[in-house]
Amino acid sequence: MKKELAEFDNISPRLEQLGSYLDQYMRFQHDDPMKHADAWRTALDIDLPQQGIGIERVLQEMGEVIIPNGSQIPNPGSSVFITTGATSMGVLANLSALVAAPQRLGLHAFNYLEEKSLQWLADLFELPAHVKGVYSSGGSTANIIALGAARQWAYEQIGIDPAKDGINQPGRIYAAAASHHTIQRAAAVLGFGRDAVVTIESDEQGRMKPESLQRQLEEDARNQRLGVAIVANAGTTSTGAIDPLQEIGMLGKEYNIWFHVDGAYGLPGILDERVRHLYQGIELIDSVIVDPHKWLGAPIGIGAAFVRDRALLHRAFTQGASDYLEGSCSLDEAEHSMDQLGIPYHDFGLELSAPSRGVVVWALIREIGKQGLAERICRHNDMARELARLASESPQLEVVQAPTLSICCFRYISQTTQDLNDLNTRIHRRLVHNTRNMPSTVMINGKLAIRPCFVGARAHHRQVTDLVDEVINIGNDLTSTAQISNF
Ligand SMILES: *Cc1c(COP(=O)(O)O)cnc(C)c1O
Repeated sequence: MKKELAEFDNISPRLEQLGSYLDQYMRFQHDDPMKHADAWRTALDIDLPQQGIGIERVLQEMGEVIIPNGSQIPNPGSSVFITTGATSMGVLANLSALVAAPQRLGLHAFNYLEEKSLQWLADLFELPAHVKGVYSSGGSTANIIALGAARQWAYEQIGIDPAKDGINQPGRIYAAAASHHTIQRAAAVLGFGRDAVVTIESDEQGRMKPESLQRQLEEDARNQRLGVAIVANAGTTSTGAIDPLQEIGMLGKEYNIWFHVDGAYGLPGILDERVRHLYQGIELIDSVIVDPHKWLGAPIGIGAAFVRDRALLHRAFTQGASDYLEGSCSLDEAEHSMDQLGIPYHDFGLELSAPSRGVVVWALIREIGKQGLAERICRHNDMARELARLASESPQLEVVQAPTLSICCFRYISQTTQDLNDLNTRIHRRLVHNTRNMPSTVMINGKLAIRPCFVGARAHHRQVTDLVDEVINIGNDLTSTAQISNF
């Protein structure tokens, strides 16, 4: 017992040790983990240990075998998903929470910062004054939570408590084809089924067409089908397109259907004055989600859902009274941090035990302020625009989808190659294997495009020129070899 305590008290030298391993990792001078996969797999593939080796040696294995073979995601050249390495402040705040407030429950500073930081996010993104939020593990769960509130509201309108009694009549969710597939999953989890998500036609740029939505709503109203929610995107995952929020939100009001905006990636884009007007209509939302672990640079595991009325969330997700909690922390007069649970976030979402995430968001905003966040977001949007400019000026490249936010979709073109989709697939694989540039690809109106998404706090303009140069080099190389082999 005594020894264990002593080990914890000595966390600072271990942190210093860990810090040096992590700093080394973040220099990205190591090889890709697959290059030496046999070595680290062998080192890690041991049978269940009967005896422990102690904290020092575990830390050493971590630093020598595991960390150097970690993921490429924090590499500044990685622009593949909308996921990035956490900022240092985010990592430190996360660690503080793990030690000092392993749960958000209770009357303490971390619980207080859950609400404070959610309010800051609402202010930052110009959400309506009355909305209230709840954190969750990410956008997937945040969408389930927000659509859970939509379900509660829609069925209460017809005299049913869906959380208590279940749903006895089908409900529909309207979304553009470019919506994230977690919407379908949310529909499945909430009991509607994936097929309850009705795909609304989009324009060339992947934005929902309000007139098509209206046609569908009209038809469904005529047939007395129950509309549960309209889901609009503020930044689609594949191209960053923003649906016409104002018009869609107005249709929600007209047809009395819940208006949800999925801003997991793109909501922070509102901080860039150049695109701010695209968010007009955000004031009409019934719910919206954002992922601080995407564009805000928070460590993974932090999403937020905002809903116009948190009482709905409570009715949708309350776990009901549980004797051991009620008995232990429900005094009217709180004098001790364990006298009450604080704001009952556990009744507003899917998790009971959950980390204190508010402190992380609080720290990120406190560190660089709204201005610092806006500058970073503008830099990422600039990078996408610069890429589009370089691609349109180069005879070997073509912009496939011009950027709305920080995603630019482009491809290599060649007169001598028939199948450009195949060529760009091969360019992309070689790019990922042989260079520091790790974008993804996306299919847009039949064209396979290379798709970098710039969201990393460490992503910088030089990644853009580097990416362009490499794509041209690889493309030239592949097309010239193809030509030679044709002769
Ligand atoms: C990433 C993303 C999600 C899913 O979020 P996770 O945090 O990965 O669960 C949902 N919607 C959109 C638009 C996204 O970009």
